[in-house]
Amino acid sequence: MNDLELLGVGKTYRDGTIAVANFDLQVKPGEFVAFLGPSGCGKSTTLRMIAGFEDITHGRILIKGKDVSRTPPEARPTSMIFQNYALFPHMSVRENVAFGLDIKRMDRRQRDNKVDRILDMFGLSAYADRKANNLSGGQRQRIALARGLVVEPQILLLDEPLGALDANLRRIIQNELKLLQRELGITFVFVTHAQSEALGLSDRVVVMSNGVVEQISTPRDLYNRPSTAFVAQFIGSNAIFAGSGFKAGLGSDGSIETPLGRITGTLGAAIGDGQGVLAVIPAEAIQIEAETAASNDNSGNPRLSGEIAARQIVGSIGHFRINLSSGAQIAIEAHVNRPGIAALEKGNRVAISLPEEKVTLVPAAR
Ligand code: ADP
Repeated sequence: MNDLELLGVGKTYRDGTIAVANFDLQVKPGEFVAFLGPSGCGKSTTLRMIAGFEDITHGRILIKGKDVSRTPPEARPTSMIFQNYALFPHMSVRENVAFGLDIKRMDRRQRDNKVDRILDMFGLSAYADRKANNLSGGQRQRIALARGLVVEPQILLLDEPLGALDANLRRIIQNELKLLQRELGITFVFVTHAQSEALGLSDRVVVMSNGVVEQISTPRDLYNRPSTAFVAQFIGSNAIFAGSGFKAGLGSDGSIETPLGRITGTLGAAIGDGQGVLAVIPAEAIQIEAETAASNDNSGNPRLSGEIAARQIVGSIGHFRINLSSGAQIAIEAHVNRPGIAALEKGNRVAISLPEEKVTLVPAAR
């Protein structure tokens, strides 16, 4: 049975703002799901609806198969961690962590046992009697997690929980969070606008824009097989070629006419006749080599010719901007260990190819 299910969930605020439209999602027990999208796309609203802090306008929310759409937050088996942690500054660490258990009127011995255990687990025992506002950002983050987990929720909801931390601490806590989630096997639903965080931590990512779910996929598929134009532009670093005249292929592939020639690829979503189409390929999947006479043999997608407009090596990755003969400019990334890459310089003529199996075709518009 799914731990969490959203069935056509939507939210229209009183002022008429449609924050979320028709959100469908199934989350399996122990899954780590991230909501990713630009600010204002409806991530937090959705999380608050799951927690019960926000009424839903339409649809239903099920937790472990039970309809909780009208259940108050304290009666749902969820805990929420906020970006600013929402700790009580003048209460001790122990009191902060015990708070959720006190609300549940748990008897004192049982409560103290649970609090001790979780403080120990988060390395907070030595600070148990300190006031929460006398601790560092990383420690406060751990208190918030301990407070959320001590009540043993079915689902932990995290709203940009790492947003207040500096980059280093963020990385450390990201790792801890992932280990913790594996160890406890609790379902995590995590809101972030940081792509690396969503792709690095979660089993599946829900990409949202403007209140609409764009795609729900594993990080890998999101990267390699976008299903919408928005995802192609938002995730990773893709070269995108607009075209038309879509022709379906034999299996799940098809081809389109572009100013660069006919491009074949795998369908990321259903494409209708006469629809505008984008051919999308990750910058690092594009093949680049110094142009030679042999470069002209034409098999599969067209080989394009161009000139290196800019080149920068960052670590072991070469970043190139190429002016194509067609006038378009594209960005390409290539590992410097690939043959010939390190020798490529600004001004060199290059041949570029788009391996068919790496190209995805998506509708240009909804
Ligand atoms: P995100 O978490 O992705 O940044 P939010 O869920 O906070 O997005 O907001 C989604 C949309 O709903 C935005 O347009 C935001 O301005 C609007 N919104 C959020 N909270 C309220 C509210 N209480 N009243 C009216 N509009 C709101």
